Amino acid sequence: MSFTNLINNLIANASLLLVGLYIISRVTKLGFTTKLPIRRQVTISFLLAGLSILITLHGVLWNAQADFQYGFVPLIIAALYFGMPGIRITYVSSILVLPFILSETLLLITFLDYTLAAGGAIVYMHLRERIEPTRDIRIVNAISLVFISVLSMLNFNNYDHSTTYFLSLIAFVLIGYSAGFVLHIVYGGMRKMQRSERLITKYKEAAFTDALTGLGNRRRFDEEMKRVDEEVFTSPQDVALLLLDIDHFKSINDTYGHDAGDAILIELGHRLAETARADDMVCRNGGEEFSVLLADCNLSQGFVIGKRYLRQISETPFPLPDGSSVDLTVSIGVASTSEAKVVTSTQLIKKADVGLYVAKRSGRNRLGKWSELKAN
Ligand code: GH3
Ligand code: MG
Ligand code: MG
Repeated sequence: MSFTNLINNLIANASLLLVGLYIISRVTKLGFTTKLPIRRQVTISFLLAGLSILITLHGVLWNAQADFQYGFVPLIIAALYFGMPGIRITYVSSILVLPFILSETLLLITFLDYTLAAGGAIVYMHLRERIEPTRDIRIVNAISLVFISVLSMLNFNNYDHSTTYFLSLIAFVLIGYSAGFVLHIVYGGMRKMQRSERLITKYKEAAFTDALTGLGNRRRFDEEMKRVDEEVFTSPQDVALLLLDIDHFKSINDTYGHDAGDAILIELGHRLAETARADDMVCRNGGEEFSVLLADCNLSQGFVIGKRYLRQISETPFPLPDGSSVDLTVSIGVASTSEAKVVTSTQLIKKADVGLYVAKRSGRNRLGKWSELKAN
């Protein structure tokens, strides 16, 4: 076997490994971490087994030589990241395929290759408990180096010259390390990007969430109103807006304390969210004022749903932190884009607000529409 041939094979082999690992971590979107859900771990373990077989097959087809190739690396990765369940899947499925693609001697060497690599990784993992991702490639290389030298020694006779053997060994290590280094940089960069994407999503979510009730906050409500302007008025679909305000909340705070007031706000948030359908949007617009944007809903339907809310709030007392409970009512203003005079979201809010004023003025615990204003 010529040395040049072997180097070519190693480089091609390492590239295959790099591309394979990159694709697997891209396809699974998450990369390899110990914290993946078990189903993801199983899928990735199978993919790693496939990659392992592909690399071995490639090495063998190229120069019928199995002792210098990187087919065992995916097994080490499965062991390091997914522990025994991962290595069991990757090891067993690749070992089952090997007899179909390798002749006897190569089969034995490759079998030992895989077994030692997996075993070494498992032992290491037990010693280290949990591997830090930044060290993964160095560990993979260190494990590979130790046993590949031992294994290929057994196969020593196949080399025309001892220098060829030692040069091959050095080449193996150098190419392996360079490949690992590249992967480390690419993979490390990917992990950082994924982490910052996750953080951005988290902060965005927090910026639109009311801390007390977990509902949308004023900013979310404003965003939703922008969407109404952009989408609802240009479509045949209607939405209705309910603006809710707790009745005499100040006296509840004064009587039972601010903490009791907060508990009521949280409970009210739960009830509103429970009653809302998946496409409805519940927000705490501020203080003791809430809003529900009812999807696909005209004024009369909004009226019916608003009445349901009134009942659900007034019929069941609200529990307080001290174990007692208190009756609570709200007043609701309702408006809908189905009304002729409502052609922007600002008008929708304005009309619902007048409706709320009407409801308060005419005795509370009721629904109000702006068109009733004159009648009062
Ligand atoms: P009305 O029936 O006319 O709406 O009377 P009200 O007492 O509910 O109205 P008002 O606007 O006078 O009082 C609102 C009260 O809501 C005053 C404030 O102490 C209370 N409040 C606003 N935000 C919070 C909060 O986050 N927690 C608690 N506990 N109370 C709050
Ligand atoms: Mg108020
Ligand atoms: Mg109030």
